[in-house]
Amino acid sequence: MPVAVTRPSDLAESVPLAGLTTLGVGGPARYYVRAASVEGVAAAASWARAEGRPLLFLGGGSNLVISDEGFPGLVVHLQIRGIQVVPTEDAVELTAGAGEPWDSLVERAVSEGWAGVECLSGIPGLVGATPMQNVGAYGQDVSETITRVGVLDLHRGEPDELDRQACRFGYRDSRFKREDRGRYVILGVTYRLRPGGPPSIRYADLERHLAAQGIGAPTVADTRRAVIDVRRRKSMVIDPDDPNRRSVGSFFMNPVVPTGEAERIEAAARADGSLATGDKMPAFPAADGRTKLSAAWLIERAGLRRGYRRGQAGISTNHTLAIVNCGGATAQEVVALAREIRERVRDRFGVTLLPEPVFVGLEL
Ligand SMILES: Cc1cc2nc3c(=O)[nH]c(=O)nc-3n(C[C@H](O)[C@H](O)[C@H](O)COP(=O)(O)OP(=O)(O)OC[C@H]3O[C@@H](n4cnc5c(N)ncnc54)[C@H](O)[C@@H]3O)c2cc1C
Repeated sequence: MPVAVTRPSDLAESVPLAGLTTLGVGGPARYYVRAASVEGVAAAASWARAEGRPLLFLGGGSNLVISDEGFPGLVVHLQIRGIQVVPTEDAVELTAGAGEPWDSLVERAVSEGWAGVECLSGIPGLVGATPMQNVGAYGQDVSETITRVGVLDLHRGEPDELDRQACRFGYRDSRFKREDRGRYVILGVTYRLRPGGPPSIRYADLERHLAAQGIGAPTVADTRRAVIDVRRRKSMVIDPDDPNRRSVGSFFMNPVVPTGEAERIEAAARADGSLATGDKMPAFPAADGRTKLSAAWLIERAGLRRGYRRGQAGISTNHTLAIVNCGGATAQEVVALAREIRERVRDRFGVTLLPEPVFVGLEL
């Protein structure tokens, strides 16, 4: 006998989504519900399936570009809270509900002296989204510490647990973002941290900042402070007084290309005078003998500068990689600017930049 699916009691209709995202663009959700428990998520998903409506899971809305038409299905806003700490012989296992604010969790870890996530300070959003794109910054990413991800498998209709290997993490990538997009709702994440461990200082920016403060042997707390300072200068922390505050952080990923291709790009830039003799193009070794380029460098060399505007969308005045809503921008304006950036870089260097955020009802 078919099981009757009941309408969630607190279901709302025509809920504006722009204010639930950091970029501040996008139309309304046809339906919207908050889910604070596994049962709440499961009930919402069953109702959407029975109604033939698509589902969108929403965390802090800091990596989403939603179309001006909005979303025709059910938006489920993840609010599962709770933090557990389990000490093991040489580590601490920190498990947090998907709806826990990420930076508060990092602050807690740092205040306890647990190493492993200190470079990920100041990143907006909620815990549940961190495995999605393997959130990372300053040479650290969550795949280094995640041991388990608790999920609701919407294909099988059951909760499950995936270990790190099963998540198939890559650079700003995982199975959740790619091949299994839409299959799993992330309910909670476990991170394995090192009590008293040394901070991870792998980026010159960070090293320079700490050295300038006279800090020779930084603690995790020093590292968190330095990361937040450096991020603030680039408008990469949410600050209500910052005119560049409405963004999704970096809009494009740093392209990873075959090393021969990187050499060709550098030689071409040198030949046309955009790279002075003696200067080097920023390039970093990546997996499989490939080379990671700086998307910001490519954008600037393609002739697009900080502060460049197209309607109400613009390039942040503090960070070439961030597209900002300068106030009242539409999603169409944001996408038009992103296309222009992508095309100018492609015409100039033959490299196609890939976007970092998730697009809803839109394509780049
Ligand atoms: C100023 C700024 C700086 C940033 N800096 C960085 C940075 O340094 N490094 C970095 O990696 N990112 C950065 N970001 C991007 C963003 O903050 C992260 O990707 C963050 O993890 C997104 O979390 P969220 O909760 O806001 O996710 P949302 O934007 O709400 O969702 C992002 C995607 O994940 C899905 N999703 C969210 N929660 C769940 C869940 N529980 N289950 C299933 N699917 C889910 C959504 O459907 C969507 O597809 C930055 C963004 C901003 C605005």
